[in-house]
Amino acid sequence: MKFKALLASRRGDAIATELVDFDEADLMPGEVTIEVAYSTVNYKDALAMTGRAPVIAQFPLIPGIDLAGTVQASSDPDFAPGDPVLVNGWALSQTHHGGYAQRARVRAEWLVRIPAPFSARDAMAIGTAGYTAMLSVLALEHGGVTPASGDILVTGASGGVGSIAIALLSDLGYRVVASTGRLEEADYLRGLGAASVIDRAELAAPGKPLQKERWSAVVDAVGSHTLVNALAQTRYGGVVAACGLAQGFDLPGTVMPFILRGVTLAGIDSVMAPIEARREAWSRLATDLDPARLSALTEVVPLVGAIAKAHELMQGKVRGRIVVKIRP
Ligand code: NDP
Repeated sequence: MKFKALLASRRGDAIATELVDFDEADLMPGEVTIEVAYSTVNYKDALAMTGRAPVIAQFPLIPGIDLAGTVQASSDPDFAPGDPVLVNGWALSQTHHGGYAQRARVRAEWLVRIPAPFSARDAMAIGTAGYTAMLSVLALEHGGVTPASGDILVTGASGGVGSIAIALLSDLGYRVVASTGRLEEADYLRGLGAASVIDRAELAAPGKPLQKERWSAVVDAVGSHTLVNALAQTRYGGVVAACGLAQGFDLPGTVMPFILRGVTLAGIDSVMAPIEARREAWSRLATDLDPARLSALTEVVPLVGAIAKAHELMQGKVRGRIVVKIRP
């Protein structure tokens, strides 16, 4: 049986992604076959399809690090036809065919059931970006941060991780300060729940090892000097969740926030996170994130539209989340 898929191939130094008719017999082994309904375009998908980073380890490969849909067939007793499921990360778009296809076959241990009240589309409006935002919020909570602790800084605010982090934190009662390079998006960010908006230029350049204490905690999607300045501005005993590298993967800082203010730097990884952490994150998303919020931060594109959106995302032109509707 053939179905529509995007397929990435290497052409010299470049990567070409095109719509093809893919043969189900060419899917990789796995216990569960899924009728995919929605996928997304995350930062990592954009890196993969533009070739800006070597995400895809073997070609040709169907990209897409996220997928949501319905189980079509399963040899695993935990899943039955008709079950609504999602996958975030694991080997998708690295060594295993990913979400930009009408059908996927994956390992049962990668699957999370889509929790009520979310639809498959909601699950992908959240996607890896939103699930990473939730992992970051959980890291703050594990570090003892509460709404009474003080302001929370969210960097990369207009992006996918940032937008969902703002919505989540504000719904949980935190006072959120959004850092963005797009001040024209201030109304959008306030609409998501940001109490105030700052220019990311304030954080982007090298700063002093210790600065005025401003944040009880930080969700940082940006890395580099921004992360170092965020650490230098975090209050005594605060927690900084480092989940991204939009400015850079370097960490040009000092140990001063750690040894003089007891600041905790919490690393966040979504790709290989154990299944228990994923289930906790998705179950908390289901209780803490109002699905009605998702429409304000989501744009839906058809399968082939994912290619152009990947390029736009790399140019910093995407706001919030892109959902890819896999079937016409
Ligand atoms: P997006 O592109 O949607 O958001 C990134 C945001 O970062 C942009 O919208 C922009 O926000 C800001 N930004 C972009 N370039 C720069 C720059 N040069 N300096 C400072 N800020 C910049 O990506 P996602 O939200 O999907 O992902 C955000 C980051 O998190 C990425 O680095 C991604 O790799 C990482 N990530 C990590 C995961 C993990 O498992 N640890 C999982 C998911 C994502 P604004 O315009 O508001 O300034």
